[in-house]
Amino acid sequence: MEKILIAVDDGHGMYTAGKRTPLFEDGTYMKENEFNRAVVDKLIVHLKRNCFDVLHVSAGDTDVPLKRRTDLANNTIPNGFGRKADAMVSVHANALGIAWNSKAKGIEIFYRSGYKAGKKLAQDIQEYLVKGTPLINRGLKTSNLHITRESDMPAALVEGAFMDNPEEALLLESDAYRSECAEEIARGLCQFFGRTYVEVPPAAAPLPDGAYPVNVVVGGNEFDGLIIDGRSWSPARDVITALGIKTWMFEKKSISINGTAVETKIINGIGYIKSVDLQTIEVAKVFLEPDAVNTKRVIIYPKEVIINE
Ligand SMILES: [Zn+2]
Repeated sequence: MEKILIAVDDGHGMYTAGKRTPLFEDGTYMKENEFNRAVVDKLIVHLKRNCFDVLHVSAGDTDVPLKRRTDLANNTIPNGFGRKADAMVSVHANALGIAWNSKAKGIEIFYRSGYKAGKKLAQDIQEYLVKGTPLINRGLKTSNLHITRESDMPAALVEGAFMDNPEEALLLESDAYRSECAEEIARGLCQFFGRTYVEVPPAAAPLPDGAYPVNVVVGGNEFDGLIIDGRSWSPARDVITALGIKTWMFEKKSISINGTAVETKIINGIGYIKSVDLQTIEVAKVFLEPDAVNTKRVIIYPKEVIINE
């Protein structure tokens, strides 16, 4: 896949004066950069999963000068990629003033006036960003901002919500909203570059208490077995097939081999049988390595091999 380089910018630094919410009732406040950086960190993960190269132009706690941010994106300061970025996204939280107010609310996105590709990028990000939240869409805007003006590529500056609006400040503080913004910006970038967004792979279902994975080896094949309460369980279909046993059935959540029912557990949709039962019903020899107490590997041989040895 063609490598596309995205420059990401988490607006300001962690200690930039004034860039924060007013004080909450408990006397605490949120720095703007806490939101910006959380979104950018999550965005980077989505972009890498989607096979983009990513250049973070404002890494670290310090307030990287704006000129340095765009110089890195433009590769006029060598950025390590040997080329300028193909797009740039800067993430911010908005503010009307320094005191709480409920007048200003919503999301807005800036691009460079008269730059069609920049506008298209802003539109693509906006399309997803306003879809996912109940926030007001303040629309696309142009303004003489350094990031959009001095970057030599389509650039969008996202104002995620107003940090001096009490309701939106709570949203900006929440991990759920930060996650949502990151994902939607990534979706917008994918659309801009004509890519199908690669979803986050579903998390593996948790194993039952007392269960841990173990390698089950049958001939040249390795399968994912389980140790449950100190006993080894093998994935039935895989192991029975690898042993070449054709006379088995899986019926009413229970497995029988050669007409003998064996204890069966269904875990995350997979049927497991006790490894040792394969030996009890005389279809295989089972070895637990290094031993039965602390099993790391389960080696299963077809019975015929043992007989022929
Ligand atoms: Zn800002």
